[in-house]
Amino acid sequence: MIHTDPAAVSEIGVRIGEIRRQIAVAATAAGRDPSDVRLLPVSKNHPVAAIVAAYESSGIQVFGENRVQELDAKASELHGMSAISFALIGHLQTNKAVDATRLASEFHALDSVRLASVLDRRLTEQDRTLDVFIEVNSSGEPSKFGLEPAEVREFAERLAVYPHLLVRGLMTLAVPSEDETEVRVCFERMRDLQADLRERETLGLTWDELSMGMSSDFPLAIEYGATTVRVGTAIFGAR
Ligand SMILES: *Cc1c(COP(=O)(O)O)cnc(C)c1O
Repeated sequence: MIHTDPAAVSEIGVRIGEIRRQIAVAATAAGRDPSDVRLLPVSKNHPVAAIVAAYESSGIQVFGENRVQELDAKASELHGMSAISFALIGHLQTNKAVDATRLASEFHALDSVRLASVLDRRLTEQDRTLDVFIEVNSSGEPSKFGLEPAEVREFAERLAVYPHLLVRGLMTLAVPSEDETEVRVCFERMRDLQADLRERETLGLTWDELSMGMSSDFPLAIEYGATTVRVGTAIFGAR
C-alpha cells in the first residue's frame, strides 16, 4: 500500500487538470478532437507516491519512465496496483531488453534493427506483444537518439519480420529551443514523415500515432498532429 498525502494528490490533480485544459485548447484551435490527444505523465525522478497521486486524482493509468532500472524499482514498489502500467520512453540497450519487455506496455524509443530483433525474441519467449514507436531525430542534433527522417521508411519495412512488435507510429524530441520557429521545424518534419509513410502504405499501417511534445512545447506539438504528449515537469515539478 502506497500512502499519499491528500494535499499532494490535490495539487497534482490540479496540475493535470490544467494540462488537460491546455491540450483541449490546442486541439480545438487545430481543428482536432481533444480526445485524440493522450496525456502521458512522465514520472521519472519522482517517487511512486507521485504516480499514485496522479492516478487517484485523475484516473490516469499509464506513466512514462525513461530508465529500465528506475522502472523496475517502481514497478516492484507498486506491486499489486495492477491498474498502473508504464511506457518506456528513453533509449534502451539490448542487454536491458528482457526487463523492458517484462515491465513496459509500450516502448517509444525504437531506433535499431538489432534492438527490434532482441525485443521480438524476448517477447516471443514471454508470449506477449509490445506497442512500439520509432524514434526519429527531428532536430539533427548529434547528441540525440533516433533515426534520421530519411532512414525511417526503410527501417520500418524491416520491422515486418518481428510480429510481436506492434508498430504504432513515430516519436521525437524537438530541439530544446526558446525560438518557436526552430521547434516548429522539428514537428513539421514529423508531420511530413507521417504523411509520407501513410501515402506509401509503409508496412500496411495507418501511422496514426505521433508521440511528441513535452512540458515546454506540447501545445505546438498538438498543432502538428501529436497524439501522445509526454509531460513531466509541468505535472510533477522540477526534477
Ligand atoms: C523527461 C522526458 C519527457 C518530459 O519532459 P518535461 O520537460 O519534464 O515535460 C518527455 N520525453 C522524454 C523522452 C523524456 O525523457
